Parts: sequence; structure tokens; C-alpha cells
Amino acid sequence: MTLDTPSKAKPPILGLTQTRLVELLKEWLEPSYRAAQILDWVFKRRVLSFDKMSNLSRGLRAKLEEHFTLRSMTYSSVTGSHDTTRKFLFKLHDGRYVETVLIPANPSLYGEASDRLTLCVSSQVGCAYDCKFCASGLAGFTRNLTAGEIVEQIVQVEDLVKDRIDNLVFMGMGEPLANFTNLLHAIECLNASWGVGIGARHMTVSTSGLAPNIKKLADFPLQVRLAISLHGASNEVREKIMPVNRKHQLEELFAALAYWNSKRNQRLTFEFILIAGVNDSLDQARLLAKAAKPLLAKVNLIPYNTVEGLAWERPSEEQQDAFQAVLLNAGVTATLRREKGHDIAAACGQLRLKQETEEGIIDSLIPAKRITIGAGLA
Ligand code: SAH
Repeated sequence: MTLDTPSKAKPPILGLTQTRLVELLKEWLEPSYRAAQILDWVFKRRVLSFDKMSNLSRGLRAKLEEHFTLRSMTYSSVTGSHDTTRKFLFKLHDGRYVETVLIPANPSLYGEASDRLTLCVSSQVGCAYDCKFCASGLAGFTRNLTAGEIVEQIVQVEDLVKDRIDNLVFMGMGEPLANFTNLLHAIECLNASWGVGIGARHMTVSTSGLAPNIKKLADFPLQVRLAISLHGASNEVREKIMPVNRKHQLEELFAALAYWNSKRNQRLTFEFILIAGVNDSLDQARLLAKAAKPLLAKVNLIPYNTVEGLAWERPSEEQQDAFQAVLLNAGVTATLRREKGHDIAAACGQLRLKQETEEGIIDSLIPAKRITIGAGLA
């Protein structure tokens, strides 16, 4: 299987910020008012060919065509139906795949909106962080998505479903804070009035806990929300399932979150997957409550969603309820997401893994190898 090298491809124009476009027009000796015209064609009218940009000179259209592409990924498939969670698979220019998940009527978990469309977007192909329960990192890390590829997921899904996305969660494949610069550029294009126009408070960045970049994001002027994939309330338990904890221990993570809180006035979210016999003890629940309280964090409990090739299991419903009760009794806001629809979103990475394995892009033996690791820990 031959893959095009990323360097050969023209970047998607959807990741170009207004500032950069103005600079570029200056270099090309074009007047700066052209920027607004171009952005209007790109983000508002969403034309699919530079030739359609009828108020630009032929020369400028040719120049844009030479440097950029209007669409860099092709829609490959969708699973799910209109009223349920839908998983879109996009093929990137280099033959790789990313998943983007559309969740209808997300009951005010992230952002204030309910009955609205939430999109779960990917930030990388694969993931380097190797969380032991997650499908995204099963075949390791391939590459960062460009800012344009991140933005394009939203634009393509909006165009496919002929509707606007209200909320964005960076909870698809990859670790968004490990692709920091591209993430910030993408957020700028997604938020700007010249761009996609989604309010910053309707965007949630989810991280496995890269403490230094959490602090950097706290200094970013746009008021995006933050979710932490905690999944363990002590270093000992967290380290078993999230190797990132060896690098950034809970003390460092919580200090970065205190800094975040000093800069923001919206509440943090702790994501906590419940895995039977691993992190679902009531002791963990008590430690979680102790950590969440001073940080004013809301807790989302998510029963583990089975991943093919991994040996983890979700706890019984009684255990899930008991875990939640400890949090609620301690005065912590804690929701328990049992609905099926969310399961698909939580397990982002599986569809792409299946597709790339079938096409022989990734080694199908890798997930099998991981079964042993999973079983060993459980
Ligand atoms: N790297 C980022 C964002 C991607 S993961 C992060 O770690 O937050 C998005 C969410 O899905 C995370 O909370 C992750 O822990 C969760 N997730 C991954 N695999 C899952 C599974 N099998 N069941 C339930 N949630 C899962």
C-alpha cells in the first residue's frame, strides 16, 4: 500500500486564519479587503471550487488554487441513523482515516445547550498516550491533524447533514493538547465571526492531563471549556491505565487545574470511566470527591464501553450507582451516562482502526498484542 507523503499535499484553506490570510495577500501584492471576500466564499458560502469565487480576479483565484485545497478529505462512510449518534469516517489525503461523531440532543453535559447537535472531533491520527482502555492508541501515533483538517471535520459534517453544529467536543481520536498550535489555530477559525462562528463556551477541549499545556490553554483568550480524562483518583490506580500519569502526576495536574480555575469562571469537568475491578472501588469514589470539591469540578461517570481486543469490563449497575452516590453525598455534581448513544462517542477510534486494518495500513496484530496487557492489569 502506498501512501502519499503529507508534504506533497496542499493545505486545506479552512485552517487559514484571517491574520495569516492578510499577510499572504500582502506578499502577493493584493489589497487586504480581499481577505473578507475570500473568507466569505470559504466559510459562509462554502464553495467547492476556487473558480466560483466570482468577485476575485482570475489571477488571485489561480494563486489560491496553487497554494490551497478547499476540501482535503473525502467522506467515506457513516454508521448510525438520523435520530441517534452518527459516526462519520473521513479519508485524509494520505490515505489515513479519522472519525467524527455527531451526537444529537446532548443533555447539557458540555456547554449550556441541550437539544442541540454536538460534534466530537479528532485532533490526531492515532494517539501516543497509550491509555489502556482506549481504541485510539491501539496502533500508536501516526501524525497530527493540521488546523485545516480539524476545521474541515466540522464543515463537512455540517454540509452533509445540512444543519449547524452547536457544540464541539475535542474528544475524538488523539490528544488535542499534544497538537497545541494546530488546535489553537483551528479553534480560532471555528470561533471567529469570519469563520464557522461557534461560541468558545460551546467548545470543550478534553485532555488526558498534559499539565503544562493546560496552563498555556488557561492563558488563551478564548473561553473554551476544559474536560479532564481522570479515570483514576490516586496515582497508583491512574498509572495502571494511563501511562501519562507517570509524567504528570495528579499533584501536578491538580495544580494546573487550580491555575485554570484562577483564570476562568466556568466549571471544569472530570471524565471518569468506570472499569470493573480497576477504578470502581468506593475508596476511589471518596478520593475523587476529595479532588473534585476544591476544584469545583463536575464529574461525568461513564461505564466503560467495550473495545474489541481489550479485556476490560464495566461494573454492575449497582456498583455504578454506589460510586455515584458517594460523590453526590459529598456534595459533588456527578452524572452517570448510561445511554447507548454516548457509548459510540466514547469509543472513538474503533471505526478508523477497523478500516485501516482492513486496508492493511496498520498491523492487525497490534490490537491482539494489547489483549495481554489489558488482561494482565485487570
Ligand atoms: N485524549 C483526550 C481526548 C480523546 S479521548 C482525552 O484523553 O481526553 C475522549 C474520551 O473518551 C476520554 O475521556 C477517553 O478516556 C474516553 N474513552 C476512551 N476509550 C473509552 C472506552 N472504551 N469507553 C469509554 N470511554 C472511553
